[in-house]
Amino acid sequence: MKLKKSDEKKEFELMKEKFKEKVLFFSNKINVRPSGIYFRKMKRKWASCSTKGKISFNISLLDKTDKFQNAVIVHELIHLIVPNHSKLFKSMFLSFMPDGEKILFGEKSL
Ligand SMILES: [Zn+2]
Repeated sequence: MKLKKSDEKKEFELMKEKFKEKVLFFSNKINVRPSGIYFRKMKRKWASCSTKGKISFNISLLDKTDKFQNAVIVHELIHLIVPNHSKLFKSMFLSFMPDGEKILFGEKSL
């Protein structure tokens, strides 16, 4: 069955809402509060966060698996605490996502 344009749009909005819910779920777990969650088209990154705590996610993430989405979300949320990729960052990331490095390995930079 072919979806009507309006249905496609609804579906897309729904996917974005679901993704945002996941971001909030992990925010509670990690105990951080992003000041804003956005979706953008990006060429070289899966996500980025500003110094003010706004996180932008690559819109293509919506086509990825839950596992991959979660790893990217956790990665960005930890950046709200540790802005670089230091040892501290890595150990925090792995404590929330033990197989996270494997999931993200070889992917676009974050
Ligand atoms: Zn990063």
